[in-house]
Parts: sequence; C-alpha cells; structure tokens
Amino acid sequence: MPVINTTAPASDEIEVSIFGPGVGECIVFHAGLDEWYIVDSCLNPDTKQPIALEYLQQLGVDYKTQVKGIFITHFHSDHVMGIAKLIEECVSSELFFSHALAELPAFMLACMHLESTSAISTPLSKTFAEFAKCIATLKAHNRPFSRVNAGRTIFNKTNPLVRKLICLSPSNVSVEMANAKLASLNDPASKLMPGISQCTTENLNAIAIHLSLGDVSVLLGSDLEEHHGNAEVGWSAVISGGYYESNEIPKSHVFKVPHHGSITGHHDQVWSDLLESKPVSVLTTYSCQHRLKTDPLTPELPN
Ligand SMILES: [Zn+2]
Repeated sequence: MPVINTTAPASDEIEVSIFGPGVGECIVFHAGLDEWYIVDSCLNPDTKQPIALEYLQQLGVDYKTQVKGIFITHFHSDHVMGIAKLIEECVSSELFFSHALAELPAFMLACMHLESTSAISTPLSKTFAEFAKCIATLKAHNRPFSRVNAGRTIFNKTNPLVRKLICLSPSNVSVEMANAKLASLNDPASKLMPGISQCTTENLNAIAIHLSLGDVSVLLGSDLEEHHGNAEVGWSAVISGGYYESNEIPKSHVFKVPHHGSITGHHDQVWSDLLESKPVSVLTTYSCQHRLKTDPLTPELPN
C-alpha cells in the first residue's frame, strides 16, 4: 500500500503530487500561499471520482476557493477523464488549455472524424464526451478560460514569496501545424489521410509547465514529445526558446518525465540544460494493451 501524505503543506512550501493509476495522469500542486493548481485529470479506479478532488479533500483543502487554475495539457483520454467535474467543483479556478485547441469546433470535428475512420479501437468517444461536458460546464457557469502557448506567464509574484509559473509549450509552429491539420479534415480535397499519425501530433501541442517557488523549481513535462528532429516544435523548441539562457527561469530540481517515459519524449538537452543534476524524476505509466514507443521497432500509439 502506498503511503499518502495527508498533511497539507505550509504556506511557504511547494508540494507536487503526481497520480498515475496505470493509465491516466493527474498532478496537483501547491504554489504557495494556499493557492493550488491541477494539471490534467484521471479517476480513482476504485471510486471513479477525480483523484484530484479526493486528494484535496483528504488534505482538508477548500478546493472551491483555493484551486486557482486547472490545466488541460492536451486532449488525450489518459489526461482528461473527470476534468469536467473539476471545472464544475473548483469554482474559483480558471481553465487553461493548449492554444492548439483554439478552434474548438474543429477539434470536435477531428474527434468524430478520427473515431469514424480509425482502424483500431481507441477511447476517443470517452474523450469526446468529456470534452463536450467541459464545454457545457464552461458555458453554463460562464467560467473563464484561456488558451496557452509557449512563453505564457500564468503568474509572476514577488510579494511575499518569489513565485512564478510559466508555460514552455506549445510552440507557435506546432500550433500552426495542428490548426492546419484540423482544418484539412474539413476539406474534401485534402490529401491528408486521417488516422493515428494525426493523433500523435497532439502531443506536440501539450503544455509543459515550469513552476518555481523560492529556490525550488519543478518542470512538468506533460506528454510533450519530439517530432522527427523538427527544431521548431517539442522539446527542441523549448530548449531554443531562450527561457533558461536569459535566467528568466532556473533549472529544475523536480521533473515529471514527459509522455510516460517513452523515447519520443526524450531529449538529451532537457537533462543537461533544463534540470539540476540528479533531479527527483517521476513518471506515470501507461499500462494497457497498446505499447508506447520504447525503441524504433515498437509501434507508436496515441495516448
Ligand atoms: Zn499521456
């Protein structure tokens, strides 16, 4: 049995909790001064409830007032289940999602299109249902939401604690690529074949997050990947973005390894340039019948 800390952090403490019940990922972090953020969502396999809410309840955190932001890093089923309920319950939060989802109707069209043409069984229908619930909840409660891309600063405060949260992706080029692909789905003359290869692009649009509080810094890698050596997207774009060279943000001590540890989420310079030596590194697994790409011979599948 895992030991779960049920003591809430002090006001000046950073706390990051990463949940990964086999398939699914959710991160809950305390950004200081009783301000909490949730990154993605998954369900407790036993109760079928969003694990973030259960955890905050265990800590005695008033999530209705203290959760200030919810991130949907990207819209894959292992990152969004229960997100609509989080939005509904955390009434003081703003929703942040990838700028690549700017064209919401286009994304819905893409979901339907992929589902109807996919050669293998995928959980897209569940993802689509969750997405539809999110839209309904946002509309019903007139909740704020914001599209995020690389360089977006969510907060940068110095009083009384030095605290900063900045998004490192998606790059502008990956947003353009995503929107072009989505638009092509509505174009009968398009030569792009629908299928799995389009779905994998979604990971290039995932939001990687850098959080710092005082001397401690955390890098949350989401499912951000590399893309055939394209320097303008993925981790290559983060590295060339200049955030670290300009000392805008420090190297991190804690790392949520991207994309469940797949080789496509690895970049040597992340470890040398963005992280302190020997960072505390955690990943969530992806345990189902489909395998992630761990070597060049392993088929790659969306997640
Ligand atoms: Zn994932």
